[in-house]
Amino acid sequence: MPIDNDGIMVILSSPSGAGKTTLVNLLSKTKNFEVSISHTTRKPRQNEVPDKDYYFVDEEKFKRLIKNEEFLEYAKVFNNFYGTTRTPVIDKLSKGKNVLFDIDWQGADQIKNKKLDYKLITFFILPPSRKVLFDRLSNRDMKDKLIVEERMKQFGRDVLHWINYDYVVVNETLDDCFSKIFNLIQAEINNGSKDYDPEFIRKHVEKLTL
Ligand code: 5GP
Repeated sequence: MPIDNDGIMVILSSPSGAGKTTLVNLLSKTKNFEVSISHTTRKPRQNEVPDKDYYFVDEEKFKRLIKNEEFLEYAKVFNNFYGTTRTPVIDKLSKGKNVLFDIDWQGADQIKNKKLDYKLITFFILPPSRKVLFDRLSNRDMKDKLIVEERMKQFGRDVLHWINYDYVVVNETLDDCFSKIFNLIQAEINNGSKDYDPEFIRKHVEKLTL
């Protein structure tokens, strides 16, 4: 049975290119947070460290974990499987650690629907404009225009899930976005007043989806 000293769960999701990974890294250095390490069938990227960034597994192993009901949530994203195993998360929470999830909207929905007895705060990160997103994606994948186009199309679909999150935060500058998220987490923990304008967000999403 969860008690007052239990940790909380914070989910950060975003369409590709909104700058979420950097935010997760910054947040992981604060407030007793530990990042949940996912399993994935995706191949490691050059700069990624196995068992730190992800547990890289083959599809057979992933399917075995599904069959053994080890996942708190899992989903297929861009043709690869991604999932969060339950035991490490519950272990951390029951020891009073806060757990940070860098997962997509499908995983966020699943965790929300589990209605665990731990406090959950969900954030959706958005870019300031389609132009900025396009530039960020182009810088990242300069060699491949097709990838950029595909990610822009995917953005149009992903952005529609903003409505299911507690908070939507625009990543105009990293410092500012980080402070907003940090302050909202603080306010949630302390039942304080929240600096959040849902009307501004609704208009921003409207602009992004025109
Ligand atoms: P990437 O391959 O770029 O690391 O991640 C692709 C997408 O998969 C990102 O949106 C990331 O948040 C999401 N993702 C990473 N791990 C998990 C997970 O365990 N579960 C779910 N549902 N999504 C994940």
